[in-house]
This record gives sequence, structure tokens and C-alpha cells, in this order.
Amino acid sequence: MKNYSGKRITVIGAVRSGLGAAKLAKKIGAVPFVSDISERKNLKNMIAEFDKNNIEYETGKHSGKVFECDFMVTSPGVPSDADVLIKAKQKGIEVISEIEFASEVCKGKIIAITGTNGKTTTTSLCAHLINTAGLKCYSAGNIGTAFSEIALDVQQNEYVALEVSSFQLDFIKNFKPEFGILLNITPDHLNRYNNNFDNYISSKARLFENQNEEDYLIFNQDDAVVESIVKNSWANKLKFSTKTKVDYGSYSMDGNIYFANENNESELVCKVSDLNLKGEHNLSNALSVVSVAKLLKIENDVIKTALSSFKGVEHRLELVKTLNGIKFINDSKATNINSVWYALQSFDEPVLLILGGQDKGNDYNEIKDLVIKKVKKIYAIGSSAEKIYNFFEDLVPVEIIESLEKCVKTARDDAQRGDVVLLSPACASFDMFKNYEDRGRKFKNAVMSLS
Ligand code: ADP
Repeated sequence: MKNYSGKRITVIGAVRSGLGAAKLAKKIGAVPFVSDISERKNLKNMIAEFDKNNIEYETGKHSGKVFECDFMVTSPGVPSDADVLIKAKQKGIEVISEIEFASEVCKGKIIAITGTNGKTTTTSLCAHLINTAGLKCYSAGNIGTAFSEIALDVQQNEYVALEVSSFQLDFIKNFKPEFGILLNITPDHLNRYNNNFDNYISSKARLFENQNEEDYLIFNQDDAVVESIVKNSWANKLKFSTKTKVDYGSYSMDGNIYFANENNESELVCKVSDLNLKGEHNLSNALSVVSVAKLLKIENDVIKTALSSFKGVEHRLELVKTLNGIKFINDSKATNINSVWYALQSFDEPVLLILGGQDKGNDYNEIKDLVIKKVKKIYAIGSSAEKIYNFFEDLVPVEIIESLEKCVKTARDDAQRGDVVLLSPACASFDMFKNYEDRGRKFKNAVMSLS
């Protein structure tokens, strides 16, 4: 590890990753200074931690002091074109992301997981599988615990399943995961990339830019965008597919999960039905993890046990309750069209769909056919309700409803035994809720209070 003793590190952004980075800096003998433009009153919990750890900070501004440093660490929430970062670059100050910083001190092996959708589910499943095998795997990154919080705890023979967003990849330098998983790439977050899909793709490709022949890149062969960019990778490439056999990696076929080794010899790992999660997208996520498990020489019966005991993650196709034969499903994390597509695809039952929120430039043509096929009625909420109404009104019954609670009640009244009431909004939550977790919890509360 580099010697950080006495190094002055400015951390931009005080929330989770920023706090983690500042604490890590302190632990390795550096001198952190945290700066956040949010007002003090919004950062109470963080400030308590800074005081407790003797970390200097400022709120409500980025003063000139932020540039008095050896390098800067930026949090993923800070836009890459923020003034403070641009000025730092102009002054020749190196700016790195929090995962770059944490990975510099981490002795363990990193399994970095990125993609537009499925990151949290896959990260969580990956850690679950490796821990089930009796090895030690932390989960960190976007999933909840900042990488910096645990980076020093991870030992050489241990693993970190790291959920990596493109925002974190924007500011890497030497970040070189031993295992990289690239799940899928579809348009999302384009507002942060000047509405330029190519910029977003390039950002995802940084996952493997420092990998070499010692490392592994596990990628989704079913995704044309992913396939097109991995050509530039130097790592050992393993594929996964729910559609065809692959020559090296994991695939599903005829209800079974197989792994083909580097000599293209296939073995049966377990059955698709061993996977507790629903939907083809989750099978795809699971296949990527099966490849990691096989590379770690984890036995097939352990893989089977882990896949069948994994309960999934809250707010992702989460079964809340079955009431009079009607299933209520919370998929509040479905904040883009692609995840709604997969959600609908996962059900054979007729669906009453709660859709809407803050629009991210959605093109509903992408789910039009599936909606016609599977959806009995749409309940449109939030600031995009009218757009949804106008798009779908000639295709299926649509009702604009002012609150989520009322959607749940109306859908319950409309539903019949055997139907599914699905919250899979395709939109951000910020028009009506604090975040998607808040939206999911309110949905669950509304369901639980139905008699
Ligand atoms: P992320 O962390 O990338 O946002 P999550 O695991 O939190 O991914 O899932 C977000 C949403 O996307 C959920 O609605 C989930 O059901 C759906 N989803 C999960 N995996 C995939 C996938 N491989 N492709 C498309 N949608 C997915």
C-alpha cells in the first residue's frame, strides 16, 4: 500500500461514500477535509460522525480550501461536470472516485459488478453464494456499505462483491478488479451523460480497462451492446447466456444450468428451478455469479444450495402478500423501462400495473406489446401520469390516481383471484416520495393495511 501518512485528501460529498472515504483517510494516517454544498441541517448524521472521528469539514459551499490537497476523492452523487471538479482538474489536482481510493488499500479480491439493471441483486447473490461456500465475501459499493468502510477489514484470501455504478467508474485510474461482471447496458441515467448513450457505454467499459490476462471478465452474451464493447478487454472472458450455449462460461438450456470450462467442456451445475428468484433477468444475473463460483472452484451442490436459499432483495419483485388469491408485488426499484419489461415477462398471471412517477424520457413503445399481452389495467401515478394515460389509453384501461395508497385499494377492488398487483413504476420516485425505498415501503404498508 502507498504511504498516505500526512497526505491531505479533500473529499467532495459528505454522504455515505464521502463519509466512508474520509474515515478511511483518517485510519491510514492521511488528513481528510470534507466539503459538501448541502446545508448543515441536511447532513446531521454525517456531521456527528465527522465530529466523532475528528474529521474537518465544511457545508453549504466548496471554499478555496478544497484545492489545498494532494488529491481529491469524489462521491458518486456529485455530477462529473460539477464546477469544483472541473476547477480541480484545471489546477492539476488529481480527482479519483471513492472506489478507486478504497481499492488502493484493499488486500482482498474484488468482484466488481456493473450494468444498467441487476447490480444490487447480483452483488447480494454473489456474496451469499461465496459465503455459503464457507469463504468470506463482503458486499459493498452502491448496495449500502461504502467500499471505504470495509476496505481495510478485507484480508488477502477474502472477497468483496462490489456494486459499481457508472458514476464511480467515471473517476477511476488504476481500479483493477480480479473479477468484473458486466450485466447489461440499456439507456438510463442519460441526463448525467449529456443524453449521449455512447458516453454512458464508455463509462461502463471502464470496468475492465485496467484488467489483464490474470483477471476475469464475465459478460452477458445476450446483450449486443455489452458484446460489442468487451472485444477491447485483455482479461479472460467468460460469457453467460439464457438463450444459447456459450463456449466458456455459464448458460441455461432445457431447464438446466451448465458451465463450460476453458476447453469448452460443459457440465451440469443445477436446475433452473433451483433458483429461488423469479424471471429470466434473475436467471441471467445468477448465471454470472455461477461463473464466479466455478472459477473459485465452489462445488455444484453448494451453488445449488445458495441459489435456492437466496431470498432476493427488498423492493425488487418482492412478494408482499397474497390476499384472496391476489399477489401484491413490490418492484419499486424498477426505475426504468427495461426493468418493467422483465418484471412483466416474469408473470404468467394477468397483471394490474401501477406505473408512473418522475419520467426519465421513457419510451413506452418498449413495453407496449407486453402490456397488451399481460396487463389488465394500468394505474398511473405521479407527474408522468398524463403521459402514461395518453400513451396507453387506446391499448388497455388506464386510470389516473392521485395517491399510491388509493392505487392499491382500487387495484384490489378491480382484481380477481389469480391476478397480480404489481408496482413496477418505470420512473424515479422523487416527485412524490423521498426515494424508491420510501415508495416501496409505502406500497407495502398500503398492502398490509388492506383487510
Ligand atoms: P440495480 O442495482 O442495477 O438498480 P437491482 O438489482 O436493484 O439493480 O434491480 C433493479 C430493478 O431491475 C428491479 O426492478 C429488478 O427486478 C430489475 N432487474 C434486476 N436484474 C435485472 C436484469 N438483469 N435486467 C433487467 N432488469 C433487472
